[in-house]
Amino acid sequence: MAAFMRKLVLILYLSVFFCAKTISTLPIVVNTWPFTNATEAGYNQFLNGGSAVDAVEKGCSRCEVLRCDGSVGEGSDPDENGEVTLDAMIMDGETMDVGSVGCLRNISSAISVARMIMERTDHTLLAGELATKFAVEMGFKESDLSSNKSDMMYKQWKENNCQPNFRVNVSPDPKKSCGPYNPNAVLSKIQNREDKQVSYLNHDTIGMVAVDKNGHVVSGTTTNGLNHKVPGRVGDSPVVGAGSYAQNGMGGAAATGDGDIMMRFLPSYTAVQLMGSGTSPSNAALFSIKPIIKYFPDFNGAVIAVNNKGEHGAACHGSGIGTFHYSVMDNPDKVNLFSVKCV
Ligand code: ASP
Repeated sequence: MAAFMRKLVLILYLSVFFCAKTISTLPIVVNTWPFTNATEAGYNQFLNGGSAVDAVEKGCSRCEVLRCDGSVGEGSDPDENGEVTLDAMIMDGETMDVGSVGCLRNISSAISVARMIMERTDHTLLAGELATKFAVEMGFKESDLSSNKSDMMYKQWKENNCQPNFRVNVSPDPKKSCGPYNPNAVLSKIQNREDKQVSYLNHDTIGMVAVDKNGHVVSGTTTNGLNHKVPGRVGDSPVVGAGSYAQNGMGGAAATGDGDIMMRFLPSYTAVQLMGSGTSPSNAALFSIKPIIKYFPDFNGAVIAVNNKGEHGAACHGSGIGTFHYSVMDNPDKVNLFSVKCV
């Protein structure tokens, strides 16, 4: 009997660990990584009568304030000039409205700026200095996004001859020297991404999907992008269909990982369309990253997917991640963590 019970407990444990398609109830909040404070902050919006848009904004905001993993919000992962800039988006799957902001300077609450763009303009994406100007007009306060930590990261990177960096086909040799760089006359084969150290250790994004009790789906992301990115770089997180996507009647999805690669394949859009035609969330997530693997076998990334019934799943790829964890809250009692092994 004891052996049978042990076996049963093991089966239950393994099914939670490896079975990425899980049935939940509505409302639900699901987000990338074990950023459980954010999940809770999102779900609390539902408990307090808020909408799915409120859940995604407040959930992602929580991560910005807590600087989840150092990869979200201000204070970490500076660019080549030592400046921290932010990317974020929010998408309403009922109206198909989107607000996105890329390379946002000097404003710490990127997800709220994204919401402001969605609700107070007819545009989809604002970027850079002028996105800051818009935010200030809308009442946001400017502040320096660097911190002792980001200053230290920058200093160490400079002392290490600016290694790693994201430059190719320039002189002096970017694998050995800092810039300024000039373009080489001849293009050589682009190196793989492994030597750029794009692993989960130097970037992450909170991507979140919230579905209210009536099936209203909203998705969002916020991140400070890649450590030592080229100034001006905008990653996948604010790109519709790449960083996240939401469509009522189908579901929502969000991505994290090597955004320069992922945004070429729109994995979040793919996952949502697949769920719309009946594919389970875990398979939708898996099929959304399969085309990326074909072209970039070294890529590191993960996708979460939630359908309009609150079933959820995830898939990931890359030795830099290994096992991907994501957070789910579908009841007021606790946040549950789920894990998938990367393919
Ligand atoms: N996708 C983000 C970017 O490339 C980073 C991450 O999620 O790890 O900016």
